[in-house]
Amino acid sequence: MTETNKALRVQVLVIGSGAGGATTANVLADRGFEVVVLEEGDRHGLSEYGQSPTRAMRKLYRNFGMTPVMGSIPIGYVEGRCLGGSTEINSGFWHRLPPEFLLRWKARFGLIDFSHEVLEPHFAWAEEVLNVGERGQAGWPKSTQVFNRGIEAMDWSAQEVKRAATGCVNTNSCSTGCPKGAKQGMSVALIPRAEALGVRFLTGCKVKLLLKHSKRITGVLAEIKREGGSSDLVRIDADYVFVCAGPTQTPTLLRRSGIKEHVGDSFQIHPMLKVTALFDEVIDAQDSVMPLLQVKEFWPDISFGGSFFSIGHLALNLADNWHENFDAMKQYRNMASYYVGVRGTGSGTVRAKILGDGDPVLKYELSDVDVRHLSQGLARLSTMLLAAGAKEVYPCVFGLGKITSELEAVRWLDESVPRSSLSLTTVHAFSTCPMGERADRCAADSFGKVHGVQNLFVNDASMLPDSPGINPQGTIMALAHRNAHHFADMHGH
Ligand SMILES: Cc1cc2nc3c(=O)[nH]c(=O)nc-3n(C[C@H](O)[C@H](O)[C@H](O)COP(=O)(O)OP(=O)(O)OC[C@H]3O[C@@H](n4cnc5c(N)ncnc54)[C@H](O)[C@@H]3O)c2cc1C
Repeated sequence: MTETNKALRVQVLVIGSGAGGATTANVLADRGFEVVVLEEGDRHGLSEYGQSPTRAMRKLYRNFGMTPVMGSIPIGYVEGRCLGGSTEINSGFWHRLPPEFLLRWKARFGLIDFSHEVLEPHFAWAEEVLNVGERGQAGWPKSTQVFNRGIEAMDWSAQEVKRAATGCVNTNSCSTGCPKGAKQGMSVALIPRAEALGVRFLTGCKVKLLLKHSKRITGVLAEIKREGGSSDLVRIDADYVFVCAGPTQTPTLLRRSGIKEHVGDSFQIHPMLKVTALFDEVIDAQDSVMPLLQVKEFWPDISFGGSFFSIGHLALNLADNWHENFDAMKQYRNMASYYVGVRGTGSGTVRAKILGDGDPVLKYELSDVDVRHLSQGLARLSTMLLAAGAKEVYPCVFGLGKITSELEAVRWLDESVPRSSLSLTTVHAFSTCPMGERADRCAADSFGKVHGVQNLFVNDASMLPDSPGINPQGTIMALAHRNAHHFADMHGH
């Protein structure tokens, strides 16, 4: 990085150090570019990981873990804000983009050079650097074993999901940062490699604006935190800028900078409804990794899987019907939490606030189809958990007490849970800068170059053109890897 007339100058600036940003920085440094990464959050060592959820949320999460997605019902959303981004607090579940979505995206968004054969080496690269693998049935914790009992009773299609966490020793701290470094967040897996290749990571550095002249980005204005709470606003000039600030911040930054064509107009999420099951036997879910299986019988519209479990999360899950349910807290050792996840077919937007700090306002309106799928998912998952031996199933639905029989459960196959009673959350967001050649619906081309700007790229969850119906990190990293290599090829490196 060189200093000219008080402005710093770099060849490639990457904004954000999560799944997309860390991948981009690695590839470009490896291909001979000079790369600087600007990260809004702070750098934390493993010794700071695995603390209580409230402490972890202060350090590692945006807005201390409280970011609502507004709509006719608010949906709780969280994302990371620290070196490594959301990969530091995620569960490491790993999927490849299913062939069906690959084809659907290609057809709908006009993606070119986008096939199983093209993507295969990029997934393989990510799986190797993150050591992605399965634990195997012998290592399943009790919360997985009882879930499997239900799957077998129903004879449904299911799988143990691979994770980027081989060496996991059940500290149950995925969401508070893995203190053992077993979960391969970017701070463990890719950032040290990037630094060894010469990449500089500036943390506590929030990009406020992209500076544009004609059809080029000339640089950025960034706020750098100083010790004692003050901050400096600095200009950093760059030849090329990759925005990898995540699905909500990337579109916000682009829109704040006047780049708005199909940006933030198609925000998609996987809405999730949690349920907690009470068994006769001790599960001790608070002392193990979350359930490792996912039910794919009703995929792509509906999936079931395991949720993070702590005493605090249990209280939250029971809070919708607290007066009826609080007594169940005492039996926490016999409980485990699971979720119904739906693909999400509603419509959403991301907009920068006009007043104040210009932070995003997130909106998502559940479709009637989403509500039907959530209701049917609740019916089926509850039936399955009862078949697994659960005595009681507590859904996060206001006014709907515990479900204790199959008859109570199947009601929701034909009726919809009132929309306003649903307490939903999500940790998967995407599609705010969709990529593809269809300029009438895409913000960027098939390799993430923003339409109409010569040297600006998006390379994170925002580029996924639609909801993938699976945990998205694998797809984000594979596409970011492909796009960064394409960029290097195009620029003679
Ligand atoms: C609790 C949780 C559990 C999850 N579990 C899984 C899972 O098991 N499997 C899976 O596949 N996915 C999971 N996900 C989702 C997955 O982690 C994300 O989809 C993925 O990390 C998104 O990658 P990204 O690069 O788009 O954004 P991120 O990884 O979030 O990185 C974006 C980074 O940009 C920084 N940034 C934002 N704005 C600015 C700015 N203006 N200036 C500088 N820096 C900025 C942020 O601080 C952040 O560090 C989970 C997510 C969460 C929150």
